[in-house]
Amino acid sequence: MTHAVIVDVDGTLAEFHPTKVHEWVLGPAKQWDPFFAYMAEAPVIEPVARLVKLLKAQGQQIVICSGRPDTHRDHTHEWLTRNAIPFDAMYLRPDGHDHVDDEAVKEALLNTMREDGFEPWLVLDDRDAVVAQWRALGLTCLQCAPGDF
Ligand SMILES: [Mg+2]
Repeated sequence: MTHAVIVDVDGTLAEFHPTKVHEWVLGPAKQWDPFFAYMAEAPVIEPVARLVKLLKAQGQQIVICSGRPDTHRDHTHEWLTRNAIPFDAMYLRPDGHDHVDDEAVKEALLNTMREDGFEPWLVLDDRDAVVAQWRALGLTCLQCAPGDF
């Protein structure tokens, strides 16, 4: 097993304004193209990026876990790389699961990462419902920003 820290993207590593993206991604019908066009230029949340780099340098595996779609994996990969965020794996929303709540998506992704050999012991995330779900699953989650949306 590989000790790992799970890290969210939007609102955790990437600056995210819920009111601006609400109509694209916070309902059951997603509009990914305008969302990614907007988020491509999202600034890095520096304290979280710094923590992720410290954890990676210490030997932790960094596992990106996001409700962003796997169908648009390249967008997320490119943003992380361009902003020099180290990561070892990336788990994203499966194709055809746009209607599924973020917290349910992430619960399923946690099972997959464990099957793949990762042993997560800490999570960095921002959205209240998702933070509550990680904690209900027995993980310690550090909430890095207000997440009532
Ligand atoms: Mg988030």
